[in-house]
This record gives sequence, structure tokens and C-alpha cells, in this order.
Amino acid sequence: MAGAVEIKTASPNVSRRNFDPTAVVPEPLPPVVTAANGEDAGVDKLDKESREIVLGKNVHTTCFAVTEPEANDEFTGDKEAYMAGVLARYRKSLMERTKHHLGYPYNLDFDYGALAQLQHFSINNLGDPFIESNYGVHSRQFEVGVLDWFARLWEIEKNDYWGYITNCGTEGNLHGILVGREVFPDGILYASRESHYSIFKAARMYRMECVKVDTLISGEIDCADFRAKLLANKGKPAIINVNIGTTVKGAVDDLDLVIQTLEGCGFSRDRFYIHCDGALFGLMMPFVKRAPKVSFKKPIGSVSVSGHKFVGCPMPCGVQITRMEHVNALSSNVEYLASRDATIMGSRNGHAPIFLWYTLNRKGYNGFAKEVQKCLRNAHYLKDQLRAAGIGAMLNELSSTVVFERPRDEDFVRRWQLACEGNIAHVVVMPSVSIEKLDVFLNELVKNRSTWYQEQQPPCIAADIGKENCACPLHK
Ligand SMILES: *Cc1c(COP(=O)(O)O)cnc(C)c1O
Repeated sequence: MAGAVEIKTASPNVSRRNFDPTAVVPEPLPPVVTAANGEDAGVDKLDKESREIVLGKNVHTTCFAVTEPEANDEFTGDKEAYMAGVLARYRKSLMERTKHHLGYPYNLDFDYGALAQLQHFSINNLGDPFIESNYGVHSRQFEVGVLDWFARLWEIEKNDYWGYITNCGTEGNLHGILVGREVFPDGILYASRESHYSIFKAARMYRMECVKVDTLISGEIDCADFRAKLLANKGKPAIINVNIGTTVKGAVDDLDLVIQTLEGCGFSRDRFYIHCDGALFGLMMPFVKRAPKVSFKKPIGSVSVSGHKFVGCPMPCGVQITRMEHVNALSSNVEYLASRDATIMGSRNGHAPIFLWYTLNRKGYNGFAKEVQKCLRNAHYLKDQLRAAGIGAMLNELSSTVVFERPRDEDFVRRWQLACEGNIAHVVVMPSVSIEKLDVFLNELVKNRSTWYQEQQPPCIAADIGKENCACPLHK
């Protein structure tokens, strides 16, 4: 039974025949993006053609169409039942997709049952967290509590910081770079090539001059190249994005070395602004023993983190913290809101702060520390098992992102929702990724892989992860 097609029919009456509310909807798998700017991603040409996104052509075939209620629906309850069925099947497919999720850095393991009672309210924190607006159905009490917690984590006094709960890590980056631009209107934005695409989006949105800095094999910013580029642009202030965990390799830029490089090139503290993109790892690093510290005691301007990644949250969200002195450069007063306008968005999700508040209270520093240790342990397990099976793999010291040879079969990639770039794929080991789940994945991978490389050799990925981590015939 082609469930998705049936649901689409205009009249719900037709589709309800032999309707099985417990069936799993065949997942409408999205097309996969090929390597940027048409570079060969190391896959067969045939493979590649079927995976290309056709720009300017949206896919509608797998949607659940909205249908007009029929005159007697209210009386028969048919439409209610139909919709309940769609939702029940959707829920089942979510459970299935959650079980096979490894590639994105989302902690899918949480229980917010106690917050279900708040679903009935339109909670909106529009405007500034620290200034009550005229709209009374808000959660600022929770928001400021959460912000204070992060301010403590990143070592800035309550009266010295400003921040808010964002819609996602991207919004934190857009805000951090904007603050930098407002502090230094003619500043140049420096970001390593492996920075998240939202950084380059910010540069385009704000029409900033942007200089891409090379990276080391690990994915960290290459400070020798950074130095050369700074010296070539000594006349203009520097706005720098520092990655606390890059998206693909989980690499942590060396904040102290970045600061040293700036000062060594003659940039005094009133000539640079540093934004730390901690979307992925900003909340894990503080709990890794040997890790360098992200702290406002150092000359940084802002830090952002995603709330739905390591923390885990049913809706995307994030936290952005900056210095109070900077935010005044950016804000204006809005009479309509009786508030200050220093956020990127207008209306803001008032539920998200409550979810964060709930988790921070339950887990605390110790709870997070334990989860981080578990993630790092499991990531090492995965890397060791991959290497033992003769598969090239890399794991950065401060990271739980395991990078390895891109599986050849796109169906396998989509089944496990692996994020891929060029010749490599990664698994981000989050608290919801158990050893058991990894074992199922490893078994499937090893079994499938033996059929992929019967006549061919596995590809060399030394250029991506280094010779010592590559397991191709030349390097093993
Ligand atoms: C995920 C990620 C982002 C973007 O965060 P969203 O919450 O998805 O908007 C930014 N930077 C890095 C390094 C990331 O991993």
C-alpha cells in the first residue's frame, strides 16, 4: 500500500479504505546534495546524476495535502479520524527515523513530559529578555535564569553580559557577527574554510569583506595562514569567527593561539572582535578535562551555542551571550514593544527557554560532565572498531565526531542519516548514541562494504583525514 500517495487524494473518504493507522509511512527520502560547486565527490557518475537537486524545481509528490473539510465532516467525524491516522503513522515513522539517526549532532534522548501542560499557551518572548514588554504571556523568568547559567559557564558577571535565547545556532552566529560589524563597521571578517556556512551567509547578508583562512588536516584554523592574511590587511580591524567544534570534523580552533596571532601582528584589543561559534561543542568543551577554555576573561566578544544539539530539545533553539558594552552599539528602542531592539528576530519562541531551564536543572554541571565522558568514550569505541575493520577513520582529541570513508551506497547513507562531504562522512556521537546502536551500525556497514569493494579498492582519503588515519591499500 502506497501510504503517502493515498493520503494525498483530495477526498479523505477515498483514502480511508484499508487504512492502517499503525503502518509506517515509507519515508520520503530527500535528494542528497552533491559536493559543492560541482566537484567530483568521488562517486560514480550514474549515482551522482540521480542524487542531484534540481534547483528551481520543488518536490511536491510526497506531501500531505491540505483538504477542505466536507459539509458532513463534523457530524461523521471522518476527517478527525483521518487526521488522527495520518499523525499516528507520522509518529511511527519518527520513531523509526530516530532509531537510525547518527549523522547530525542532535541529542534525541530526552523526556519533557512534565512540560506538556504548557502546550496550550502561546508563549512569546518578543523583544529583549531583560526588559518586560507589554505582552504578558512570556517566559522571561526562565530565559534570564538560563542566560545566567551560561554566563557563569563562560565566566562573565551578570551585569557585564547581554544575551538571549535564539532560534538556533545560526541566529547566534548572525548576531555575533553583526555585533562585530557594528563595533567595527569597516572590519574584515576572518573565518576558516571549515566554518559553518552560516558565517559566510552573515558575510553576504551584511556585505562584509570576508577572508577565508586555510585549515590543518584536523580541521582547525591554520594560524600561519591567518597571520599572513592579517599582515596583508593591517589597515582594517579584524572580526574573527573561532570554531568551538567545526561542523564536519569537530575540530576546535585554538582560541589562545588566535589571540596570540592577532596580538603578534600588532592588533591591539581595540582593533579586533572575536565571535566563538560553539553551536556544536560549546557546551561539551567545558566538561572535557584537557580542553582549552572559552571564557570572557579572554578578549572575546560573543559566544553562541545550539540548544537542540548536545542538550537536546524538541524544537531548535540556541543561546547567544555577548558583552553589555557591545550591545548598546546595536540596539534602538521600540515604542511599540516598550522594549529595546537588539535581537535578530521579533517574536521569539517562549517555550524553548523552559525546555532548556528544565534540562539544566535536572542535569546540572555533573550530569553534563558524565554525558560528555560517555560521548567521548563511545566515539573512541566507534573509531577503534572502524579501524579494526580496515576502514579509514579520524577522531579529533577534543571531539565526539568520528570522520570516516564515505559509504558508497546512498541508501545506506540515508538510512543512517549520515552527513557527508566529498569523500568523507561522519557520525556525531551524542548521548542518544549507545554502544548497542553503534554495533548495529558497524555490523551493517562492514557487511555492506564487503559487497561494495569486491572488484574495486576502497578510496584513499588521506587528503581529508591524514595518511596515518587512512586505510586505503597504499596507506594501511
Ligand atoms: C550546527 C552548527 C551551526 C548552526 O546551528 P543551527 O542550530 O543548526 O542553526 C553553526 N555552527 C556549527 C559549528 C554547527 O555545527
